[in-house]
Formats: sequence, C-alpha cells, structure tokens
Amino acid sequence: EEVGLYQLADQKMMCSLLKERRFDGHKGDYGRTLLITGCHEYKGASLLSAKSCVYSGSGVVTVMSEQAVIDALTVYCPEVTTQLRPAVMRKEDFLKYQAILIGCGLGQSIDSYRHVIDVFSMSHQPLVVDADALTILSSNLDLLKNQERDIILTPHMGEFRRLCEFDEHSDMLFVARNFALKHHVILVLKGPYTIVTDGQESYRIFAGNKAMASGGMGDTLAGIITSLLGQGYGGLQAAMLGVYIHGRAGDCLANDAYTIIPSKLIDVIPQTMLQMI
Ligand code: AMP
Ligand code: MG
Repeated sequence: EEVGLYQLADQKMMCSLLKERRFDGHKGDYGRTLLITGCHEYKGASLLSAKSCVYSGSGVVTVMSEQAVIDALTVYCPEVTTQLRPAVMRKEDFLKYQAILIGCGLGQSIDSYRHVIDVFSMSHQPLVVDADALTILSSNLDLLKNQERDIILTPHMGEFRRLCEFDEHSDMLFVARNFALKHHVILVLKGPYTIVTDGQESYRIFAGNKAMASGGMGDTLAGIITSLLGQGYGGLQAAMLGVYIHGRAGDCLANDAYTIIPSKLIDVIPQTMLQMI
C-alpha cells in the first residue's frame, strides 16, 4: 500500500520476504558475520548484538573486541566466536565474512575512530553502522564516498540529528529519504514506526511498541540486521525484515509486560521467525 511518500510494510509483505531454511542447509550457508563492537567500558551492547545475531540465524558469528568483552561473551553466549581486536587492522582480517557490523559499545576513543576508518577503507562487505560508530561517522561523512556495497545506518533520532541538519518541523520521511539519496546508504531511522529508506523506496514498519524503549534495544536490532545481511538478503530487505522481526518479537511480549528487556526479546527471536514462515 502506498501512502504518499512511503509504503506500509505490513505482515504479509514481511512474512513473504523471509526465506525458509533448506533441509540440507549447513552453517556455511547462513553466513559468517563479523561484529566489531564493545570495549572495556561498554560490554553489554556487544553481548546483546552478538546474541541477537546468533539467534536470528547467522551461521557463524565472530566478535572482534577487547579482552574484557571476550571474557564476558564466552559466558553470556558460548555460540559466538571471538577475536582480540588488533590495534592496527589489516585487509586480511575482513576477507572471510559476508557481513560486518561496527558500533554497539565501541566507544569513542582514538582507537574507535581508527577502527571505523579502517573498516570503511579495508573491507568491502555489506556493512551495518550503529551507535558510537554513527557518531564517529557524523564527523567523517566523506567515508561514505565511493562505497560500492550496501551500507546500512541505524540511527535513533538523536544520532540522526548528529548526522544530518534539519528543521524540527520537517517531514522526517522526506529528510530521511534525501539523506539516503545523497549519501548512497540505506537509512533505518528508529523510533515508533521506524522508517527504512534507500532513497528510492521508503517504508514505515508497523511493528514494535512503547514497552521497547529501553537501553540495549537498538543493539539487539543491529545484530538481527547484520545476521540477515550475512544470510544473503539485500541491504534494503535485511533492514526492513530486521526491523519487522525485532518489532514483532517485542509485540509478542507486550501483552504480558510493562517493559521489554532486550535479552528477553532476543530469546523469542527464533520463534518469532518461525511464525513468519
Ligand atoms: P536505541 O535507541 O538505539 O536503543 O534503539 C531503540 C530501539 O527500540 C529501536 O529499534 C526503536 O525502534 C525501538 N523503540 C524504542 N522506543 C520505541 C517506541 N516507543 N515504540 C516503538 N519502538 C521503540
Ligand atoms: Mg542504540
């Protein structure tokens, strides 16, 4: 259904996007994902994004982070593989992955800045940029030039304001679409009725609810979108489907809860996806 500038991404459309798993599938068919997340001050965001990436079906998830995060991850989500984040990254560090996430507890240290720049210049896979990495990107928007892959930015309104100047009375759909066009990115502008746009097509996703307004919820979304990218969905599809699955998982808990805890939402991702098939 088209409503002026945007289309509604409804249940039928979203469910038809989700592919059934093959009876003879193995982990190699579902993507290797690399999550460059977390630092010793911010561990939780890294744990949540990694677990949600696993639970939404990524074949193998690798978190590249600091030792303190790795120690916590081993306990929190043993399915995740880990790698100590080198001070200086090399092209070879990225080669074997189908999708990359940067952000989620990365912090804004000098090292974090360098990691963001390295990922933009040394990797070529579809890339999700969230949280601290968005803030770093907002002072280096030139990094988006000459990128030939799908790049998905997942700002909430505060992060988007740092990325893009706009009048507070603007139509956000218009602003979001123009930003995506100008910078050749897929923009996920989070909030109630999250907007997903690649500049050509724009959608509002009608899933999710007010009980989801809690810290860590966005990290959970970033993990799902990265997982779907790694499983071979195109950028726009991964973004839309990720937002929908995340919102629907939240909706499935909302009848019984005043607030939704991100780690509890993660636990219901597998059943939410199965219900969509
Ligand atoms: P973040 O601010 O990065 O933690 O992201 C918050 C996540 O929770 C996004 O996916 C939002 O769409 C979702 N969310 C937060 N508040 C609400 C709300 N009031 N209604 C629907 N979704 C929400
Ligand atoms: Mg966030």
